Parts: sequence; structure tokens; C-alpha cells
Amino acid sequence: MTYEMIFLDRDGTLNPDPGYIAHRKDFRFYDFTLEALSRLKGNSFCIITNQSGVARGLITERNLDRIHQYIKTTFREHGIDLKAIYVCTDHPDQPSQRRKPGPGMFLEAAKDFQLDLTRCLMIGDAESDILAGQRLHMDTMLVLTGKGKDTLSQLREKPTFTVENLLEGAKLLEI
Ligand SMILES: [Mg+2]
Repeated sequence: MTYEMIFLDRDGTLNPDPGYIAHRKDFRFYDFTLEALSRLKGNSFCIITNQSGVARGLITERNLDRIHQYIKTTFREHGIDLKAIYVCTDHPDQPSQRRKPGPGMFLEAAKDFQLDLTRCLMIGDAESDILAGQRLHMDTMLVLTGKGKDTLSQLREKPTFTVENLLEGAKLLEI
């Protein structure tokens, strides 16, 4: 299946989420992440990530950028078409509409890449990922890594797809 864009959450979806990853050395992909995204050739991706650790003073913009440069380089080396990484550094106590589940970062991507969001897919592990996707009438995929299992019990409306992890999700979309 091909979407106009596949939006990816970062922590708990692409990589283990110990909370507030502040340094490149503390970031690693799940073993299956690169294989999963490589299976979805023909699709393009944007990462959409809340990083409130910046507003909390736990992560510097500079170190966050280093992590994201690493992600971009690694994806490029694997032929994965990553178009952009959108980051919201807001504190949850004072969120703008950019902070998921707000629509801001998705609307920016829609404008930047001229997307019909109803033809896009959001993949994530948190309630805020799935809610954001549902509110914008996108297909949604809940991965049961990260916070996924808790999220499953919180959601009122079921996601389009629920899968063990990103690799299982990729296999499902391949069919
Ligand atoms: Mg997450």
C-alpha cells in the first residue's frame, strides 16, 4: 500500500524510549526499524516528534539536532526516503497547537509537501499520535512497542491497524 506520506512518531516507535534522550550515544533504533522502513519502498516518510525535554531543560537543541542528523544520515544510507523531521519542544503545561495531539506539525507537512492528509498514515505508540491522526482523518497504526500497550486501553476509537511493532506493520502494508 502506498500513502501520500507516512508520518512516524520517534520514541517508542523507531527507538526504545527510556525518556528524554539527551545525547546521540543514548539513541539507538530498534533492531527491526531499518528493515521495516526498507520494506515500504515507494513511500515517503516524515518524523513528527514531541520533545518537551527541551522546554524542561533536559535536552539541548544542539544535541537534539545531532540525534536527528544521525537519523537522517542512517535513513539515507538505507535508501529510506525521509522528507523531514518536525519537532515540537513545547512544555505540556503550555502546549501550542504544534504539540501532538494538536494538528500543527501535520498541517505544516501538508503545506510543505502539498499533501491530502486523508491519504496519509500516522504510525505511533502514544494516545497523542493516534488521536492526532484520527482528528485529521488519516489512517492510523498503533505499534505495541513503547507506550503502545497502555495506549491500547486508553483509546476510545480503535486505530485502523494495531501491530506488535513497526516490522509487523510494514509486513501488513506490503500485502
Ligand atoms: Mg512515542
